Order: sequence, then C-alpha cells, then structure tokens
Amino acid sequence: MSATGSFMDDLSPVAKGALQLVFVGIIYIGFAFYNSVVIPAVAAVVPGRIPLHVKPLEKFTTTDKVFIVAAKVVTALFVYHVYQFTVNTELSRMSVDFFDVAAVLTALKWFPLHLAILIMVYDFFYTLFHWALHWPPIYPLIHKHHHRQMAPFRGNSDAINDHPIEYISGEYLHLFALYVLTRLVPAGQVHAITAILFIFIGGTLASLNHTRVNFHIPYMFNVNSHDYHHRQPRVNFGQYVMFWDWVFGTYQAEGSLPADKRAALQKKAKEEAEKIQ
Ligand SMILES: [Zn+2]
Ligand SMILES: [Zn+2]
Repeated sequence: MSATGSFMDDLSPVAKGALQLVFVGIIYIGFAFYNSVVIPAVAAVVPGRIPLHVKPLEKFTTTDKVFIVAAKVVTALFVYHVYQFTVNTELSRMSVDFFDVAAVLTALKWFPLHLAILIMVYDFFYTLFHWALHWPPIYPLIHKHHHRQMAPFRGNSDAINDHPIEYISGEYLHLFALYVLTRLVPAGQVHAITAILFIFIGGTLASLNHTRVNFHIPYMFNVNSHDYHHRQPRVNFGQYVMFWDWVFGTYQAEGSLPADKRAALQKKAKEEAEKIQ
C-alpha cells in the first residue's frame, strides 16, 4: 500500500488497465441488475402504472447509445472515486471496517437521518442545477437531449440518457453530498455501508423516476412528479424529493390543475421547446 492509500498505485500499468476494465464490467452488471431485478421487483409489488399521456421515444439514436455508454463509464469512475474518498479516512472521517460490528450498527442506527441529510443536500444543488439547465440559452446544448423522451419507460436506460456534462455533474454531486454529511456529523459515525446504501437507493429512485411504475412515498418521493416534469418542464426540478421545488415555488402535482389548464400549459411548453430547437 502506498502513502496515498490507493492499492492501484502499486500495480503495473497492464494490471491497472485490466482491473479498470473489470471494474467497468462490474458497473455494467450493476446496471443490468437494476433493469432486470430491482425495477421488476418494485413493479411486481406496486400495481399502479402511470398512463401514457404522450408518445414515448421508442428508438434510440446513435447519440443516445453513445451517451448511455459514456454514462456507464462515468459511473465506474464515480464509484472508484467514492471508494478512494471513503478509504482516505483522514479526509472522509468515515469508518471502513466491515468487521467492526459496533461501527456498522452505529451507521445503520443513524442511517435514516444520514440519508435525509444526503438527499436534502443533494437535491438542493440538483434542483438549482436542473433549473439552470432549462435556461433557454443553454437548454438546447445540454439538457434538451434528456427531454426528447417525453414519456420515460425504460428505467435506468432512460435515466442515464443524458448529455455527459449533465451526467457527470449529477453523479459527482452524490460525492459532494457525502462530503458535506461527513462534515456535519461526528467522525466515524458514517460508514462505508452508508455510501453504498446511498448510491444504491439513489440509483433505484432515479431509475424508478423513468418508469411507468406509479411508486410513491407520501411527502417524500413520487415517480409521477418527475414523469410530469418530462412533459411540463417548468416545474418539478428535484431528483429525489420535491422539497426544494416546494420551497422555491416550482412544485406542481399533476392532478392539482384542471385538465384544460394542464393541457394549455403542456402545449405552451411544447411550443417553447420547439422554438429553441
Ligand atoms: Zn428525467
Ligand atoms: Zn428537465
């Protein structure tokens, strides 16, 4: 182990390259796991489906496919950087020993609070960032790509079908949220398992946001809020919770407006999107 604490530093370039390839492969399997196990499991216990209001984007273009592959590679890098941050315990102030039962139990005991902080910190910045991506001068350059899909249904393939600038920012914001959490709570209270659970739960919720599964946890999470955003891009900028939209006045529940007003707003949003194409 070198002074920087990364075992990668001691490997030959070939071994390092091979390990990185294996790592990207594991991340690919992770995405397949969401698509074929996690989302179908949630869909099996949540019977409701969000009706299709508009025609979905059914065929991926080459750009879609390239962006999805790029997102998976970025995810591998991101997971590796979370690992590096975590094991650098002087910086991360985290516990990393999985055999230290007391430390694991302490982290799990505090996990509900830690998760709430992580999500609140994450979504504060994500909501503002996402809102900024809708600013007309930059919208066509980055975020318009994601909104070509007006009725997401594929789960994580539709979730990660983002321009790389958007995807990299969204991913690394999780690492920033983790950094903030470890500044706010006593050293050692956050464990590596906290980071693993946060990333897993985040991936699950972001994937669910791009399905037709009508999954919602009252006052916390609602797939329909993000689905509505894909059709009505002036509201609901949050990723996991709509709390900051509620604070900023940009939250709107789909059913809260009469159908005619909703249709008029949707038409207006569509016309505006076409104008800046
Ligand atoms: Zn989306
Ligand atoms: Zn958007």
